[in-house]
Amino acid sequence: MAVSDHVDLNQFMEGVKKRNPGQTEFVQAVQEVAQDIFEFIDDKEEYHEAQILRRIAEPDRVVSFRVCWEDDNHNIRVQRGWRVQNNNAIGPYKGGIRFHPTVTESVLKFLAFEQTFKNSLTGLPMGGGKGGSNFNPRGKSDSEVMRFCQSFMNELFRHIGPDTDVPAGDIGVGAREIGYMFGQYKRITNRWEGVLTGKALEYGGSQMRPEATGYGAVYFLRNMLQHNDEDIEGKAALISGSGNVAVHAAEKFTEMGGKVLTLSDSDGVIHDPDGIGQEKIDWVKELKFEKRGRIKEYAEEFSGAEYHEGAEPWDFEADVALPCATQNEISEDEARKLVDNGVKAVAEGANMPTTIDGVEVFRDAKLLYGPGKAANAGGVAVSGLEMSQNADRISWNTEKLATMLEDIMGDIHEKTVEYGTEGDYVNYVKGANIAGFKKVADAMLAFGVV
Ligand code: GLU
Repeated sequence: MAVSDHVDLNQFMEGVKKRNPGQTEFVQAVQEVAQDIFEFIDDKEEYHEAQILRRIAEPDRVVSFRVCWEDDNHNIRVQRGWRVQNNNAIGPYKGGIRFHPTVTESVLKFLAFEQTFKNSLTGLPMGGGKGGSNFNPRGKSDSEVMRFCQSFMNELFRHIGPDTDVPAGDIGVGAREIGYMFGQYKRITNRWEGVLTGKALEYGGSQMRPEATGYGAVYFLRNMLQHNDEDIEGKAALISGSGNVAVHAAEKFTEMGGKVLTLSDSDGVIHDPDGIGQEKIDWVKELKFEKRGRIKEYAEEFSGAEYHEGAEPWDFEADVALPCATQNEISEDEARKLVDNGVKAVAEGANMPTTIDGVEVFRDAKLLYGPGKAANAGGVAVSGLEMSQNADRISWNTEKLATMLEDIMGDIHEKTVEYGTEGDYVNYVKGANIAGFKKVADAMLAFGVV
């Protein structure tokens, strides 16, 4: 007989902190989930007995490896690479690769943990993983990036596979990097298989994959607004970031009749009171993806727009916000600014951009708040559809994929409302945590002690 005298939330979190010293991002991600899950499983002894949350919060494995490469000046450079395989109860590990100087084991563990819940919410058979390196692609030549990606794959290839673990892009990893890594995987293994997603269309990529995360976040935002008898038409948005997620969120928001006021990067923010419409978005895409420039150049190109060095989008007035940059960009102070600046709804295109204190501010103000694991799940959902197309050796058209993406985001919204409704308020964080947890937990119960 198991001892039914189970630990409470505080004891559980003390254990997580003790086992993961110094890993603040990971502890934060677990805490945000644990508070809702403890409430949900309070009267469900089987989840306690089987220690389900304790097991999900312990990655299946963390692989760490050296990545050695030569820069253009023939200096030998050494970076660290990781793949965190968090949980494969409901499908092969799935999640992006991040190349950024802020990458640590803690950051990747938090992302892999979040990914487990997010992937579950999509309804597709995907487990959770994440990988990356502290390599900074900024300022590197194409051949340096290629050599780094090839070296990274020389080690990563032995840990991944189309039925094992399927990485994709994330911050610092776009079509260029995926191309170099896929090419190297194919070269080493002599196998063409759907081992990475986010590939270009010529070699097995999916229509709608580049757009999916940003478009999906806007669909989720629209669904939250419609649930409250409102819509995007005529609303003004603050968007942070200027990468793939941010520009596609801006595109869909504009298409739905809204006005985008800001985009940003780690140096500052551009504020354009005329709105960042489709032509300007196309210009930003070229600036960022081809010229690899900085967002301040926008204000030199478009009169009427202002560049604010060191500022954040949250300093401006608007109706809604889409944080699409990185983790912890909205702490308590920024959350207050958003509320004071009139923002009524927030949908996260980035992963965990709001701190726990920031989330509390949103909740107290009864903001419509769609956390990343629900709102940005469109990207990985279309990755899942890319896997299906690769497995079947077919390509679906844009129309079919656009409909599937919109439907998946609608389903996620429905599930989060089902588990998150508290009187007249929808606690989307709780809804996402419980709906994401339940599917993984029930699969794990079926497997017994593994
Ligand atoms: N990096 C993205 C995310 O955070 C996409 C992952 C994927 O497509 O596998 O969900």
